[in-house]
This record gives sequence, C-alpha cells and structure tokens, in this order.
Amino acid sequence: MKIFAIFGDPVSHSRSPLMHNSVFQALHVNASYIRVHLTDGTKLKETFFSLSLSGANVTVPHKEAAFRACDEVRGFAKKIGVVNTLINENGRLIGYNTDADGFMFAIRDFLHVKTILLIGAGGTAKALANKFIDEGLHVTVLNRSKGRLSYFEDLGLTCKTYEDIETKEYDLIVNTTSAGLKDDSYPAPLEILKPLLQKTKYSADVIYGKTTPFLKLSKELGLTCKDGADMLLGQGVLANELFTEHTLDKNDIEKVMQESFLY
Ligand code: NDP
Repeated sequence: MKIFAIFGDPVSHSRSPLMHNSVFQALHVNASYIRVHLTDGTKLKETFFSLSLSGANVTVPHKEAAFRACDEVRGFAKKIGVVNTLINENGRLIGYNTDADGFMFAIRDFLHVKTILLIGAGGTAKALANKFIDEGLHVTVLNRSKGRLSYFEDLGLTCKTYEDIETKEYDLIVNTTSAGLKDDSYPAPLEILKPLLQKTKYSADVIYGKTTPFLKLSKELGLTCKDGADMLLGQGVLANELFTEHTLDKNDIEKVMQESFLY
C-alpha cells in the first residue's frame, strides 16, 4: 500500500486526508493518506523518507521549506519558489505546485476573462499573479498598504492602494486577503469595493469554510462566484493526478473529491 501525507503546522484542520482518501477508496487505489504535524520545516525531507511516503502535500508554513528540500523542482513551482506537492520518484524528492493551477482549474468555466483585479499582496497573490501573467492575462493588484506591492511592480503589473484605485471594469476580481476569515470585514472599503464589483462579471475568494462578506456582496450583486473550496478542490485534483501517476480521469477525481466536501 502506498502512503501519502500532508505536512503542516497546524494540520489538524486539513481537509486533504478526507479528499484524497475518498478518491483512493472510491476509485480502488491501494493507498492511504495521513496527517503529519511538522513544526520544524528543515526536518521535512528526513520525515518524508522515514515514513516511506510515496508523496505528500505541504501546507502553511512549510511550502518554502519544501522547495528547498527537493532534489528537483518542476514546472510553475520553480518559478515561484513554493512547493505544495512532493513525489517520491525512485528515492528522489520531486516538487510541484498545484495551488495556482488548481485555481485556474477551478475557474475554467469563467469565460473570456482577460482583465483581473487581484486584491491582496501576500503569498497567495504572488502565486496567482505569476500564473495570470503566464496565461497572458492583464493584472492589477490592489493592497491596503504599499509595502508589499513592490514585488508586483517588479513583475510589471499595475499596482494600486485605496488612495489611487479607479473604478474600472474588470472581468474577474479575486480576494486573496484574509479579510473575512475571522471577522466580517471586506478586503477593501465598501465605497471602493462595491462600485468595482458592480462593473464585474466574475469573482473568486480564496477563503474557504465560510461565505465571506466579499462573496456575499458579490452574490447579491449578481456575479458568478467561486469560493476557496473550489480552489482547494482544484489543487487537490491536480495533486491526486500526480499521486496516481495520471492513471485516473481528472473528472472522476473531481467528482469524488467534491462529494467528500459534503461529509
Ligand atoms: P498573507 O499573510 O501572505 O497575505 C495577506 C494579505 O491580505 C496581505 O496583502 C494583507 O495586506 C492583506 N490583508 C489581511 N487582512 C486584511 C484586511 N482586513 N483588509 C485588507 N487586506 C488585508 O496570506 P496568504 O496569501 O498566505 O493567505 C491569504 C488567504 O488565502 C488566507 O485566508 C488563506 O487561508 C487563503 N488560502 C487559501 C487557499 C485555498 O486552497 N483555498 C490556499 C492558500 C491560501 P497588508 O500587506 O497590508 O498586510
């Protein structure tokens, strides 16, 4: 039997074991997925091999440590220096990142998206901004403070704060801030956010497990929306494809994982 795991600190809240074990059971894969509470990121590689894992996911705060632990990093993960999926390939640790691709997978039915307003300038925003650039999309970044915007300016993106954001039309607005996670705040003042949403067709929030004020307002204004669970599902589907060496159909994985969200 192959063993997979999620590494994180904390990790008890993670939905990944349920998502992946549901797929293994329903699609008859001889594998099991466990949680590993890891406090010291530098111990990732030795823990991975001491548990004889075939693969793993990595969550907060170890995604950069996972990048450093790999013998080889492939694809998009190499560009952003962040790894969320590990594969044991004949004793070598191979790293991937399925977060941003998972987001693209989640919004694949959003048609004709060309312009995006990305709210927030943290780690999630960095990964998505790079992905959007790769996809040839036009990105504007809005953050409440200026400090973290320099990274995005260096990427050549239009960057705004509350002081200079204009009410322009975007195809998609994405909330990557943690506003609304533990409180009822919007990711930008309502007098800025509402007119922007009124001109927009699609919105997405990376927060999952609750309807944030941002998503609630988006729905009230008639936008087509995705929440963070869709992104979580997307990264999980792509990670499971890697775990099962592309032997399963992506749509079958998605269907079973989606059902696991109901438990
Ligand atoms: P970071 O801490 O790296 O960045 C947080 C960003 O949010 C910063 O730009 C910060 O602005 C901004 N911010 C925080 N609070 C507020 C607020 N009240 N109003 C306006 N802006 C605010 O976070 P991450 O990028 O790592 O994570 C962001 C969110 O994404 C989390 O909620 C996390 O749970 C979620 N996430 C979801 C995933 C999924 O699969 N669905 C995957 C990964 C993350 P400033 O620079 O001014 O401080």
